[in-house]
Amino acid sequence: MIYDIVIIGAGASGLMAGALHQNQTIAIIDSNNKIGKKIAISGGGKCNITNKYLSSSYYLGDSSFIDNTLSKFNQYDLLNFLNKNGVYPQLNEKIVKGTYFCNSSYDVIKMFTTLTKHCKYYLNHKVIDLNYNNNIFTIETSNTTIKAKQVIVATGGLSYSTLGASDIGLTIAKKFGHNIIRPNPALVGFTVQKDQFWFKELSGLSLDIKININDKIIEGKMLFTHKGCSGPAILTTSLYWYKGGFSIDFLPYKDSYLPKRFKKAIKDLDIDIHNYTMSPAGNFGYTKAEVTKGGIDTTELDTNFQSILQPNLYFIGEVVDVTGELGGYNFQWAFSSAKAQKQ
Ligand SMILES: Cc1cc2nc3c(=O)[nH]c(=O)nc-3n(C[C@H](O)[C@H](O)[C@H](O)COP(=O)(O)OP(=O)(O)OC[C@H]3O[C@@H](n4cnc5c(N)ncnc54)[C@H](O)[C@@H]3O)c2cc1C
Repeated sequence: MIYDIVIIGAGASGLMAGALHQNQTIAIIDSNNKIGKKIAISGGGKCNITNKYLSSSYYLGDSSFIDNTLSKFNQYDLLNFLNKNGVYPQLNEKIVKGTYFCNSSYDVIKMFTTLTKHCKYYLNHKVIDLNYNNNIFTIETSNTTIKAKQVIVATGGLSYSTLGASDIGLTIAKKFGHNIIRPNPALVGFTVQKDQFWFKELSGLSLDIKININDKIIEGKMLFTHKGCSGPAILTTSLYWYKGGFSIDFLPYKDSYLPKRFKKAIKDLDIDIHNYTMSPAGNFGYTKAEVTKGGIDTTELDTNFQSILQPNLYFIGEVVDVTGELGGYNFQWAFSSAKAQKQ
């Protein structure tokens, strides 16, 4: 049989694509044994699904491409869609401003299970290759060969290979002639250089800080760890960091204070607590990164996420060169890109 549409990836974007395309023969392939594995563990099991302050300024990538995509399905469209299908996220600004969390990630998975009943699932099928001949795509998987008129690649980033991540989306894109913006781990903690070895003494301590990286201001908590630093403000900073230093204000507000442990650790060091330059050694890598920045160059996709090099081939979600900050922006991107693909 030849499917009208084959979706590669049963993650956030692929499931939304499956839910939106009705009245066609659709197959969804995933190497995992279950759908939505990243959704399941996201947001501490409560899936931080979108953000009140949605705009391209919270994303890395081509801002006009991002704005155009988000305008077709914004945070309120997503919340309406979820409510209509029995999922009721609530505003919870404890960690990052504007974030909406679900009651449980499983509500989202359950919703997609219902909304994709018309799709034929090929779980435990790892996609290995994609070929195009006589207007038909042939998808080679570890177990079988599947044919389709259209293919939507929704294979996500390279982070968390334990949850099924692979580079197949980028491999397919390259095969069809696409340019790839160099991938890198993002929303990830930093490892430190010798200058910051004093961080280790503070392992477990969390502080409200303000970071200035290339004139972008990031506020939130920084967590000292035995290998470096993490916490929401650091994770977001990693999105904008490539190399070199950025400035940390350890005492950003009138009512902020420095814990005793912190004062003790810096006692004999010459540190400007309002403008401390940190130059990370690197980051904790793809095993710890929540997302991958970089990906398929969006200048080679049309506004429906169709390849301009290969008709009927689409790339959506994290596999393209758009990455959001911490706070629900990445799920929103996955869903908005699926919606834009459908239009
Ligand atoms: C621990 C963690 C927590 C996160 N929490 C949040 C959060 O709270 N809010 C937020 O906005 N974002 C969060 N994210 C990021 C978010 O999960 C991703 O940005 C989003 O899932 C991307 O959607 P996607 O559909 O592009 O890819 P994914 O959801 O990653 O789905 C890709 C799918 O493709 C499949 N696949 C890959 N290669 C192959 C292959 N060769 N053959 C077959 N199938 C394949 C994978 O198994 C996977 O199911 C988190 C990420 C992690 C790792």
